Amino acid sequence: MIRFGDIVEKIEAYQPDYDEALIQRAYVFSAKAHQGQIRLSGEPYLIHPLEVAGILADMQLDEQTIATGLLHDTIEDTYATYDQLKELFGQEVADLVEGVTKISKMSFESSEDTQAENFRKMILAMTKDIRVILVKLADRLHNMRTLKFQKPESQQRIAQETLEIYAPIANRLGIEWIKSELEDLSFKHLMPDAYRSLEKKIAKSEKERNRYIQFVIGILTEKLRESGIEADISGRPKHLYSIFKKMQSQNIDFSDVYDITAFRVIVATIPECYEILGIIHNLWTPIPGKFKDYIALPKSNLYQSLHTSVIGPKGERIEIQIRTHDMHKVAEMGIAAHWKYKEGINLDEKDDKRFNWLRQLFEYQKDLKNNSEFLETIKIDLFPDEVFVFTPTGEVKNFPRGSTPVDFAYSIHTEVGNHCKGAKVNGRIVPLKYNLQNGDRVEIITHPRAHPSKDWLKLAKTSRARTKIRQWIKAQEREQSVQLGKELLEKEAKRYAVNFSRLYKDGALEEAAKSFSLKSADDLLATIGYGKITPRQVIHRVLPPEKLEAEKAEEEKKPIQKFISKIKRKEQSPILIRGEEGVLVRLAKCCNPLPGDKIVGFITRGRGITVHKADCDKILNSDPQRLIEAKWQVSETVRHPVRIQTLSVDRRGLLAEITKELSNLGADILSAHVQTTEDHQAINQFVIAIKDLKHLNKIIRALNHIKGITEVKRVQA
Ligand code: MN
Repeated sequence: MIRFGDIVEKIEAYQPDYDEALIQRAYVFSAKAHQGQIRLSGEPYLIHPLEVAGILADMQLDEQTIATGLLHDTIEDTYATYDQLKELFGQEVADLVEGVTKISKMSFESSEDTQAENFRKMILAMTKDIRVILVKLADRLHNMRTLKFQKPESQQRIAQETLEIYAPIANRLGIEWIKSELEDLSFKHLMPDAYRSLEKKIAKSEKERNRYIQFVIGILTEKLRESGIEADISGRPKHLYSIFKKMQSQNIDFSDVYDITAFRVIVATIPECYEILGIIHNLWTPIPGKFKDYIALPKSNLYQSLHTSVIGPKGERIEIQIRTHDMHKVAEMGIAAHWKYKEGINLDEKDDKRFNWLRQLFEYQKDLKNNSEFLETIKIDLFPDEVFVFTPTGEVKNFPRGSTPVDFAYSIHTEVGNHCKGAKVNGRIVPLKYNLQNGDRVEIITHPRAHPSKDWLKLAKTSRARTKIRQWIKAQEREQSVQLGKELLEKEAKRYAVNFSRLYKDGALEEAAKSFSLKSADDLLATIGYGKITPRQVIHRVLPPEKLEAEKAEEEKKPIQKFISKIKRKEQSPILIRGEEGVLVRLAKCCNPLPGDKIVGFITRGRGITVHKADCDKILNSDPQRLIEAKWQVSETVRHPVRIQTLSVDRRGLLAEITKELSNLGADILSAHVQTTEDHQAINQFVIAIKDLKHLNKIIRALNHIKGITEVKRVQA
């Protein structure tokens, strides 16, 4: 059981001039506040804050953080208030305790949205003062150490959460010992059988292994003495969870895991690290592909070391890490070794690369409103399994494993990404889906006309590339919508004999935009393009009432009707009735027959002959006595309206592509109706003017070839 005196001793060891009175007062306050409270273990509650403070002292943190450790549960679990803490211990400590309290209330097991929300809060707390998360890690570590006193369901939940959230955060902050211990404790509670069996196997081989470790250390010590380098050499088993993960990922037995022991050589200088690497590779055969130089290429959590695997003295593979004392401190303590907590993180210090990842997390939580996107993004950033690659100039860049040239291109510059066409890796052309490998030299090939597409989102792994691709797609869709909106409005303006460019120039559109609560004329055009506002609504806003009145008669005629009346006015009917010309017929509105369709005439009561398609429902259900043979007399000049419907994915640029295709094929659009469904499908209906069935079929075929369109069919009006 830890005592207050133990904590004091620990702090004195690394910071002799600390504010002892502050710690003392925090201790007394915490003892009083928690008086009478008992932990599930049956011990006095005070044990917990003391242990947490002890862990924080092991992390060599400042006195404010250690005071926070002592006080961290007082706001949540006792009568103490923020104001009280502020008065007694100052704002800094009070803020820290409050920050920890907020994170403590989170639970990460729940639905995606809650999880995302909790992550957002956690990131905000971290960016305000990263010490909050360090206290939380210490709190979680002690709770994990005493997890057996919890109910079994709680054990599972807390262990799972620790493995998924807190261990990765400890890793991200570079605090190796906390990460390992959290992982092992989670492992123990989540998979007790696997844990115990592994523990037993390691214990069983312990004696033998210790002998082996001493043997290897003996040889190394001898060699290093010869070369005159002073070094600390140690060997110890890796932590259980990392062995277990290795067995799982390589699907091997315990007896086949060769590098259970990690040897470590710690020296004074970097040149000595490389010198020792040379000595070791001279002594034992290195295993190809296993050497990693994290000194030249530090991990993003600042970890540095040389890693190598060799065939050891008894033919066994052994792993050896070589590092300096400074690097060792960083490996053990992470950011705690680097950074003065007192200042908090100033996110404006752009040149402080150490906190790039945290700064980025902060940006993402602001920018990514979509929860699953956000979670996906931060999980990539929390679990960095990295590859290092080189630019053509030899600059090193690191990426999450599985990254592609697209990620690389966007890391150079947004414009390089947006015009990326392909890549050369080590001088050879590779496809964009190529997975970057350690040591690749990557060169991006750009082309002015190359552009991102939605498919790229599948290729890009980094948050930066994904964000930039999404931005580009959004901007592109907007541009197309503005263009389409402009065309639609121009057309509508023509109907009213209004000069479109004047509307634009004299600010009328700007005004209209405002009346729709939109910012600019372009916004208005985009909104028309998206189909949210009709061109007619806009014209009504910009035209004076008298002009509208004058146009009213014309306006009221729907395009189809206008068209039909045009057909009707033709002297020559396009239809032969029983082979005779000149019989006045009407084309049935229900089925809207087209030249080429099989048709039949229907003798109405008092309204002459109506021509239907032969398979029209109305005809099939009508009196056969009144049907009369009808045939098309094809004329090149007469156009026929027909309604077609396209079914497609809801892609903004699609409408523009369809309209372009229609006009290429000589089919005038008489009206268009655009509708999107909840499952992101778009149903577009167009009334188009065509020559005949052959023409229509050609159009349908062409539309079917447009990417994203799943169905094109002719429909009844
Ligand atoms: Mn606690």
